[in-house]
Amino acid sequence: MTTPTVNESREKRVDLLVVGSGIAGLVTALTAAEHGADVMVVSKGTLSSSASYHAQGGIAAACGDDDSPDLHAADTIDAGRGLCRPSAVETLVTEAPARIDDLQAWGVRFGPELGLEGGHSRSRVFHSRGAETGREIELALARQVRADSRITVVENERVLGLWRERGRCAGIIAERGPISSPATLLATGGAGALWSRTTNPRGALGEGIAMAYRAGAAVADLEFMQFHPTALSANGMLLSEALRGAGALLLDTSGERFTDELAPRDIVARAIAARGSALLDLRPIDRGRFPALIDRIREAGFDPDIEPVPVAPAAHYTLGGIVTDLDGRSTLPGLYAAGECACTGVHGANRLASNSLLECVVFGRRAALAALADAPLGFDPEPAEALSAEVDRVDRKLREQMWLGAGLVRDAAGLEPLCKAPALVPRLVAECALHRHESRGVHFRADFPIEEPELAAHTVLRQGQEPLFERWS
Ligand SMILES: Cc1cc2nc3c(=O)[nH]c(=O)nc-3n(C[C@H](O)[C@H](O)[C@H](O)COP(=O)(O)OP(=O)(O)OC[C@H]3O[C@@H](n4cnc5c(N)ncnc54)[C@H](O)[C@@H]3O)c2cc1C
Repeated sequence: MTTPTVNESREKRVDLLVVGSGIAGLVTALTAAEHGADVMVVSKGTLSSSASYHAQGGIAAACGDDDSPDLHAADTIDAGRGLCRPSAVETLVTEAPARIDDLQAWGVRFGPELGLEGGHSRSRVFHSRGAETGREIELALARQVRADSRITVVENERVLGLWRERGRCAGIIAERGPISSPATLLATGGAGALWSRTTNPRGALGEGIAMAYRAGAAVADLEFMQFHPTALSANGMLLSEALRGAGALLLDTSGERFTDELAPRDIVARAIAARGSALLDLRPIDRGRFPALIDRIREAGFDPDIEPVPVAPAAHYTLGGIVTDLDGRSTLPGLYAAGECACTGVHGANRLASNSLLECVVFGRRAALAALADAPLGFDPEPAEALSAEVDRVDRKLREQMWLGAGLVRDAAGLEPLCKAPALVPRLVAECALHRHESRGVHFRADFPIEEPELAAHTVLRQGQEPLFERWS
């Protein structure tokens, strides 16, 4: 991976600009480079600041003898509560086995056994080094990227906005200046760090979603924030579904089980929230399978060999994002999105565990191919002195407001004040959540607790327009 000076990077002509170096960004960059493109990856942090690096559980694909893409699709749709976009689900599950092969060809080593996780009817989750799957994939992809002379990586450069010219995206406005490109792909991850209790790295603020909306692209389904049921109460560290898949038990303070540990996440999270707190008992499982995770629990001051550890729900995965077709195209020509910042509709109203790393790999590849196939800019972007970008400040107070107003259980009284929040994405979350007068999947409204069949539609937001419900096939 080469790190050019700012001037070199600004002047370099590339076929594809990728913003973000998580798994979606790196897969997109590698795919495009393998197809002969010159690519630049711009990322505001180092590799370990991505959510991808922290992913523990694994990546799903129907590869077992007793499994099939149809069964994987049925489980995905079941979790998504009537809102999964059928064509996106079919694409995800059908292409999954081939994308696992790609990862292995890029040097990822998966363990021999397929894991069983919550909501999956078959064992189909690939793991690497126990609970280190995201890290192993991220590092393997980064090694490939470093070795590829067609890919330039600019780290520690925050992108502030998109360069919009003649009705299309013509590049980015980065901290140290604009960079033009015929195709720009956002792989900026989710927005979980807007909530005070989160499993996400601090940089997961939904900045790509904000810049796409400001540039005129549609965004959707931002009311659907998935809360992971089992984060360590002390520090928000995620205790993966794989632990419950392996037999870890959820207990209340009197030591009684109170929920099906493998039920979908929203059900488990609300069952814990209803009790106030819970304990995860790791004593029944083979803890040697998860050495790094067990070490981190010990570092946080708990001994899982002796007693159950306290857990609580935390903001985890952003189901909504920048609206894209199945090839990563946003509604703004020249702008593409993949991974957690995108909204293909594949997860519906609740994401099935281990489908999001898969989403990065499947749709990242497709977006790369589409970006290279689509029409080039067709004009020379003007010198861009006039370009400016708006950036939101997110502080502890706002994060607390998000937890209280747009948390696991919300209502109009808590959401309405967020419409005046000092940052765009919290306002968009509140707008979507207020528009949906029902409870569905991870969106639970105390004032509308019932799922309404006629609202099985995506909440779409476009600048200057009221929210709209759309049905996607
Ligand atoms: C603790 C944890 C465990 C998880 N476990 C699993 C799991 O087991 N299986 C699974 O399928 N999913 C899991 N997930 C979800 C999954 O990890 C993410 O959905 C996925 O990794 C997102 O990848 P991404 O490439 O879209 O974004 P990320 O990996 O979040 O990468 C985003 C990138 O964008 C960059 N960026 C953001 N804003 C800017 C900006 N303004 N300018 C420049 N760069 C920017 C960031 O620095 C980063 O490089 C987990 C998530 C967490 C937090």
